[in-house]
Amino acid sequence: MSYVNGLKCRECGRQYQKEPIHVCEFCFGPLEVIYDYDGIKNALSRKVIEGRPKNMWRYRELIPIDGEPRVGRDVGFTPLVRAKNLGNALGVDNLYIKNDSVSHPTLSFKDRVVATAITKAMEFGYDTVACASTGNLANSVAALSAEGGIKSYIFIPADLESSKILGTLIYGTNLIGVKGNYDDVNRLCSEIAANYRWAFVNITIRPYYGDGSKTFGYEIAEQLGWRTPDNVIVPVAGSSLITKVWKAFKEFEMLGLIGKVNTKVFAAQAKGCSPVTSAIKEGRNFIKPVKPNTIAKSIAIGNPADGYYGIKTVNESGGYGEDVTDEEIIDGIKLLAKTEGIFTETAGGVTVAVTKKLIEQGRIKKNELTVVSITGNGLKTIEAVSNRIGNPVIIEPRLGSFQEKFGKLI
Ligand SMILES: *Cc1c(COP(=O)(O)O)cnc(C)c1O
Ligand SMILES: [Zn+2]
Repeated sequence: MSYVNGLKCRECGRQYQKEPIHVCEFCFGPLEVIYDYDGIKNALSRKVIEGRPKNMWRYRELIPIDGEPRVGRDVGFTPLVRAKNLGNALGVDNLYIKNDSVSHPTLSFKDRVVATAITKAMEFGYDTVACASTGNLANSVAALSAEGGIKSYIFIPADLESSKILGTLIYGTNLIGVKGNYDDVNRLCSEIAANYRWAFVNITIRPYYGDGSKTFGYEIAEQLGWRTPDNVIVPVAGSSLITKVWKAFKEFEMLGLIGKVNTKVFAAQAKGCSPVTSAIKEGRNFIKPVKPNTIAKSIAIGNPADGYYGIKTVNESGGYGEDVTDEEIIDGIKLLAKTEGIFTETAGGVTVAVTKKLIEQGRIKKNELTVVSITGNGLKTIEAVSNRIGNPVIIEPRLGSFQEKFGKLI
């Protein structure tokens, strides 16, 4: 049973069949999935959703696949945790963390988009998937295509973190390191996509891929007791996640699953790659591409595919955008680890540091309900902090040696 009617151009509104296409033939605008919301309204209620297994497919009417999920059955429904200690450290009372650093199976929110995209690619009859990745997408495409038993070609900037490279190769994929940054990789992949019959998950079937991100937003609303927060802070690369979290909230509102949405959406980027937050701060509604230079490689996209819509989402919701230095990112990673026992990657350091800044600026208030999006795991970017956390105390295997360092208690 499918509630997908087809695709629609976000700019001129022209409609298309359900096909593996992503741009409008007439105006080159991006395509998005059209759903049969009346049908969904009849099929979905809080009770129906709550009765289903705790994974992203509990919202399956709102995910653009026709049949059953083919891969990633356990993806999603990650913890939403009350972050009292971090809240105390930052001076706010009502802080939560949506924690996709423990997403199954590859420890980032990309499992949501990839489970959707690979299922869709298999429905379209592809035997090979591909992607242009900043790292986490590579891990997820490699793992989930292995699960689906289909071939994969994965393109990354050659200088990615070692854990992201290892965490891709282990699944037996074809990994191609391109000498250049993500934007170079992406440009090359658009050319390759035109020459090979492969499903590029974040290019040729991007409309379907993107809607997998919506589940991050649905879960926040459900886990808060069927309401949306006052503020949500989202790390931004291509701007897919941030636009889809907003879309998710608005869909739940439209379907009557929650009340009126009064959420401000905040974009978080690194200063070394801030095309979206710079535009927001300067009051522009268009992107000026930049050359990335930051340790937050997973969100280092200088020319974001959905950047225009990212800016629009933030402005429409009444939010804002901020960016932080690499130094602040490292402090953010350490602060989250020390206060909440959650080890996030550089993108999570960005979100925490930006949240701190927004609180200091008074844009996020003490008593407001605020959700911080943690989208990836720290064990994948150990380079960022490895020489910033001290070393273990080394002792001989003798009581005396321990007491020499730590003193005698009795
Ligand atoms: C890809 C990624 C993002 C942002 O993704 P977009 O949807 O492209 O904006 C955020 N955090 C992490 C860890 C990512 O890997
Ligand atoms: Zn169009």
